[in-house]
Amino acid sequence: MSGARPVRAPRGSELTALGWPQEAALRMLQNNLDPEVAEHPDKLVVYGGTGKAARDWRSFDAMVRTLRNLKQDETMLVQSGRPVGVMQTHEWAPRVLIANSNLVGDWANWEEFRRLEQLGLTMYGQMTAGSWIYIGTQGILQGTYETFAAVAAKRFGGTLAGTITLTAGLGGMGGAQPLAVTMNDGVAICIDCDPRAIERRIEHRYLDVRADSLQHALALATEAREARRPLSIGLLGNAADLLPRMLAEGAPIDIVTDQTSAHDPLAYLPAGVDFADMAAYAQEKPADFTTRARESMATHVEAMVGFQDAGAEVFDYGNSIRGEAQLAGYARAFDFPGFVPAYIRPLFCEGKGPFRWAALSGDPADIHRTDRAVLDLFPENESLARWMRMAAERVHFQGLPARICWLGQGERALAGERFNAMVASGELSAPVVIGRDHLDTGSVASPYRETESMLDGSDAIADWPLLNALVNTASGASWVSIHHGGGVGMGRSLHAGQVSVADGTPLAGEKIRRVLTNDPGMGVVRHVDAGYEIAERTAADQGIRIPMREG
Ligand code: NAD
Repeated sequence: MSGARPVRAPRGSELTALGWPQEAALRMLQNNLDPEVAEHPDKLVVYGGTGKAARDWRSFDAMVRTLRNLKQDETMLVQSGRPVGVMQTHEWAPRVLIANSNLVGDWANWEEFRRLEQLGLTMYGQMTAGSWIYIGTQGILQGTYETFAAVAAKRFGGTLAGTITLTAGLGGMGGAQPLAVTMNDGVAICIDCDPRAIERRIEHRYLDVRADSLQHALALATEAREARRPLSIGLLGNAADLLPRMLAEGAPIDIVTDQTSAHDPLAYLPAGVDFADMAAYAQEKPADFTTRARESMATHVEAMVGFQDAGAEVFDYGNSIRGEAQLAGYARAFDFPGFVPAYIRPLFCEGKGPFRWAALSGDPADIHRTDRAVLDLFPENESLARWMRMAAERVHFQGLPARICWLGQGERALAGERFNAMVASGELSAPVVIGRDHLDTGSVASPYRETESMLDGSDAIADWPLLNALVNTASGASWVSIHHGGGVGMGRSLHAGQVSVADGTPLAGEKIRRVLTNDPGMGVVRHVDAGYEIAERTAADQGIRIPMREG
């Protein structure tokens, strides 16, 4: 791609822009494209298929140039990765406003999007790619850890110790599963048909061992389970063969899920096909391959339902395997739930979601100091403490050092204000940025994932993410974004993001308190509106006003 070059954010406490909010946006844009962070930096692609940070290299250069001379009372407008204007605003206004990949309803499909993208009129922003707050694989590891922690809380007394989880898929995202299970003290058997996927996860210390056979895997797993010792085991094979066999043999499985790439039938290996022949077969006979992949997914899902009938905790991990099995004619495909309604929604009702921050100094010691501050602030939260300790030990930073943990209503504002005070006192060597994924409590409408099966049927109502972006803009966020199509694709989601800069000034402290109260507050309000009792209690405890409950 013309103009492609390696990009790396400046480090340290010297400004290259006219203020820290502008500097922060500049560094985070550059950080998203750091070769340590981005999947295909030469193509400006950060993650998630084709999720980009800028539309093209000319747009990237124009954004860098503009951010360097943007004043404290100006706002740069970004339309799908291209800077289109600078407006005079005021010091409480965001320095950058971003709208990515949005299309009018009837046109909101991949075909039309690709046509417009070809014409150079738009780009795919995913969630944190086009809004400049991606922090590498730590995000997926933490989300997966949080999901398994919620499974443990719901069903197993708060720990996975003494349980066996069975799953498949050790790819880009699914590869976080074994470590997320062992971080929750459980045992995991993880099937993949690609030997390299297993080897890679062992190399990266996400997976502990590889079993030689199904019997070997079960022997290792039951021994570890009896000793209540965490262990993750890779097992080579096809999930559509192995799950039914394990079910028939009465394998002692407590939890079943799946992260094969079932959302794309051309990426799921049908039973009876050798892995070595998969790519050629998918390319040469896509229709035939799709039919066979779907039939295998039906067998796979039938075994998952069988484990559920036998008493296991079973859930879909957002890969559409239930939908594909249903397309193949399996009637009970939706007998088990998706992970959001099953485990994450109660957290969303408390305003909990993926809070994250990055040290603009580039100094890992700054993150270690903020880690300690978070542990200090919430000493009673054991699952948070376990994550923070393990993350400090196991997570390698990619690009600017960063941390993620799930915090709820009230907690986020406390943490943000503490970070700002730490910058003011010099305890941190430079400002930090505080943001989040768009997969959060009040910032996304996505009926196949975050808003699946809402209590009041409001799954597809997309006013909420728009209100979320507006309230963050009105509260003093440093940059705010509204995107379409992240996570689940065109036509299937609308979502918003915010990033705030803690530069140690009293003004930043005021803004952070409002943004980090109102941003998760939108999630509490959204879930109160849908009729969730936990959200009502959170609103009452946290003093969030709900006009329809007053008077
Ligand atoms: P990926 O393509 O990198 O990896 C998929 C893995 O599945 C590969 O290693 C492949 O060898 C393996 N596989 C394919 N067919 C198989 C079979 N029949 N038996 C055993 N292994 C098989 O994909 P990824 O990035 O890891 O994502 C996996 C899926 O999970 C996607 O569908 C993704 O959308 C979904 N996902 C959803 C969420 C969420 O909703 N929050 C989070 C993470 C991933």
